[in-house]
Amino acid sequence: MVNAATPTTRPPIRLLPPEVAARIAAGEVIERPASIVKELVENALDAGARTVEVAIWGGGIDRLRVRDDGCGIPAAEVADAFERHATSKLRSEHDLFAVRTLGFRGEALAAIAAAADVDLTTRPAGEAAAAVARSRDGRIDHLGSAGAAPGTSVEVRELFAALPARRRFLRAAASETRAVVQAVEAYALAYPAVAFRMQVDERRVLSTDGSGDVRAAFAAVHGEAMASALLQIAGERTAAGDGGDEARARVDGLVGPPHVHRASRRTLTLFANGRAIVSRALTHAVEEAYVGLLPGGRYPVGLVHITVPPDQIDVNVHPTKAEVRFRYERLVYSAVGAAVRAAVVQAGTPGAPLPAGLVTPSRAPGAQAAMHVATTVTPGADAVAVRHGAATQQPALPLPERLPALRALGQFDSTYLVAEAPDGLCLVDQHAAHERVLYERICAARASGAVEQQPLLAAVVAPLTAAQAALAAEQAGSLEALGFVLEPTDGAALIVRAVPAALAGGDPARVLADYLDRLAASEEAAGIDRAAATLACRAAVMAGDRLDIEQQRALLRALEQCEAPQTCPHGRPTMLHLSNEALARSFGRR
Ligand code: ADP
Ligand code: MG
Repeated sequence: MVNAATPTTRPPIRLLPPEVAARIAAGEVIERPASIVKELVENALDAGARTVEVAIWGGGIDRLRVRDDGCGIPAAEVADAFERHATSKLRSEHDLFAVRTLGFRGEALAAIAAAADVDLTTRPAGEAAAAVARSRDGRIDHLGSAGAAPGTSVEVRELFAALPARRRFLRAAASETRAVVQAVEAYALAYPAVAFRMQVDERRVLSTDGSGDVRAAFAAVHGEAMASALLQIAGERTAAGDGGDEARARVDGLVGPPHVHRASRRTLTLFANGRAIVSRALTHAVEEAYVGLLPGGRYPVGLVHITVPPDQIDVNVHPTKAEVRFRYERLVYSAVGAAVRAAVVQAGTPGAPLPAGLVTPSRAPGAQAAMHVATTVTPGADAVAVRHGAATQQPALPLPERLPALRALGQFDSTYLVAEAPDGLCLVDQHAAHERVLYERICAARASGAVEQQPLLAAVVAPLTAAQAALAAEQAGSLEALGFVLEPTDGAALIVRAVPAALAGGDPARVLADYLDRLAASEEAAGIDRAAATLACRAAVMAGDRLDIEQQRALLRALEQCEAPQTCPHGRPTMLHLSNEALARSFGRR
């Protein structure tokens, strides 16, 4: 990772040779105050600052300042710092393929000075006075010296004053402020060993202690409550690279347990070698680890640091360096998914946190296994077989918290089961609960390689719409993994030879078409986990199905065995709990 906190012997600022400058991703670096702040904060970090102070006024459009206590710029080089493609960080074209600093293009100060008035004050610790440079209308019109503490301060005023067309593209001060704050927060999270302070219109909005504790930095940004719930992630993957080298990806950070989530993706920050990045693929890798655990429309939180050897990442693909390219993208993707998944699974998955009393401590794995008894639930006319099989594998992970024994008392509205829990009463949504049970069984069967399949005595031709057929072709792998055996015909129809055991009993052609429609409607055309969730949904008892007491018991027993009993695979809750205490209070007994 970029080592911001250790000032190294600093090479002088030089103009990049034209052939290197030509290879730098071209584009507008300065679009808005947030992009200026980002560049200045990166300069501060590259300078080894331990403290970075950001202040903005009027959304940063009127005025902004970034001050650091880093290595400073020698007086003789101050004017050079404003030259385009002048940098102390890159020497040759070769360096461009192994960038170790946040900046490397030598463009930022030049671009900022072209868009606004700049006042730079800088003093290396060894020098007696600070050098001062004043840039107006894109030209340095004053160089001098002044008294100042070691470090660098850059003040920028009147952004785009001379470029009214650009200025019109800026949004209201409030929204520019939000963008600046978000940018600074990302760096505060990425560099917990650096103390960040930020002021908006003289008001302090952020202050991190620089202690090096990531959780403390997270607490300063997102609040103590969320920070204390986060799970540590750590993992590393290696593989043979294609150039005889070793492909390597390390993943560290903090992520939320499944019951901590947010309505937007903004509370999840990704870093690659110390740089905040935007990556749909990696965001997806994190979200995949929560499939079946978060309610719909909710997103995981946390921060994920990816560290790869500097020559396995290309940071020169995007003008503002927000996107990067990994040489071994799949390895990085799987390393992120595995690290997050491991933490999430180990944490157990109490879904929406149940009131104390319902969730009991883990049981011994032995006791668990002994409870896998063959049971059959036969709800209503559309009979669906539920198998408890030997295929239900115990994962080799610490057991998460499970449900205590629930005693079936009856069914309400042909939709909910009423059950007695050790500490109160539970209402269980029969469809959601059954979905959860089937989902975990399908996943376990798949993990053990034992696909639960129901071969058909006579093959059935399923006439499909073009859209269904296209989806079936695209999802051929997951359909097969779940137990469908399908053969193509000349047209859109498919020949069905077997269906997943969980779907046995219905009309196979309808089952397939229905399954495909549900898969199409599920949020993302995604991997096998979502396919399994869709299958479970299709196979589960519906609201409105009458269940007799034996069927109710069997469903509750099966739910107790689940890894994540409190939510259905789509994240909806499976149950509602009324504690004895809540009941007593409601009836005025307490
Ligand atoms: P880059 O960061 O890509 O090198 P910049 O235009 O941002 O380009 O900065 C030009 C040069 O000015 C840097 O290479 C660095 O040597 C010097 N510099 C800029 N800001 C600072 C700072 N806060 N502290 C020390 N040196 C700085
Ligand atoms: Mg820079």
